[in-house]
Parts: sequence; structure tokens; C-alpha cells
Amino acid sequence: MRACEWCGRSIVAKNRQARFCSSKCRVYAHRNPLPKALTNADRWVRRDARKVPLTTTGTAASSTDAATWSTYAEAAASSTGVGLGFVLGDGFACIDLDHCLVDGVPTAAAARFLEAYRGHHVEVSPSGDGLHIWGTAEPGPGTVRTQDDGLHVERYSTGRYITVTGNVYQRGEILPV
Ligand SMILES: [Zn+2]
Repeated sequence: MRACEWCGRSIVAKNRQARFCSSKCRVYAHRNPLPKALTNADRWVRRDARKVPLTTTGTAASSTDAATWSTYAEAAASSTGVGLGFVLGDGFACIDLDHCLVDGVPTAAAARFLEAYRGHHVEVSPSGDGLHIWGTAEPGPGTVRTQDDGLHVERYSTGRYITVTGNVYQRGEILPV
């Protein structure tokens, strides 16, 4: 069943391009680009232009020190640095695909890879040419690999933070990765 990306109501009767049941849902979705599973977790940091993690007050933050993390509301309200980050761990994981978008369009290798993540929340990275596939996983060692088709795939589940831009490539849920 095709469902409204915001409220989940069926949109089977709508045209094929429709993503929402109503303009109201489209507006809400635009204003709230992040899944609640992320915004409900108190694992937020700020970051500077060089991707150094910061607390909301501008001191150094650490992906291994929860005392330096904030709620989403606090981090989003802070003007420290240039943007937001979310610390992985406690079941939160992310797959990082670098240099896989050309003018916003995924390379053939990336498009193939994304087929396995159709229901996932996927964001465009700060550089504009990478994707972050958010999800859940047991905390474990990170992996870095280059597939036979050239796609560079990094997967992390603990011990680091990932930038969050709110630039949604694919609206979805926080599902296993
Ligand atoms: Zn709706």
C-alpha cells in the first residue's frame, strides 16, 4: 500500500507522484524533516565547519561522553558552530555513502545500493554529494569498504557522531541497517 509519508494514511487513490494525503501533511513533513526516533533521543551535538563536535555552549563534545550531548530541542536552538550532529550508539547506526550524488542524482551504484533501503530515512550530507542512511544496529566496530562497482560504503554504529542537515533525500523510518 502506498501511504502518506507524514500520517501513514493510504494514498492509493492519489496519482502516482503523490507522497502525501493532503497539502497539510506535506507542509508538516517539510517543517519536521527528522524522524522522531532521532529527535526523541538525547544524543545531539553541534558541529563546526570542519565537523568538530561541540556542546551547545561551544566547548568540545565527545562521541563517548554523554555529558557533552544535548536534547534535540537544545541543540536545534543553539547557534554554536554551523550545524547539528547526532551521536551513534545505543542502537543507532548510519551508513555513509561519499561522493555518490551528481547534481542531486545518485550514481548507478548508489541507486542499486539504495534499493535495499527503501523505507529508511536518508539525508544528504553537508557536502551535498553524499548520503547518510540512518537506522538501527547493535553497537560494533565500524566498517569501510569499496564495492566492486566502486561505491564507497562506511557503516558505523558507535563511537562517532554523524552530521545532520535536515536535507532529506528520502523520508523514512529508523530501520535496521
Ligand atoms: Zn497525510
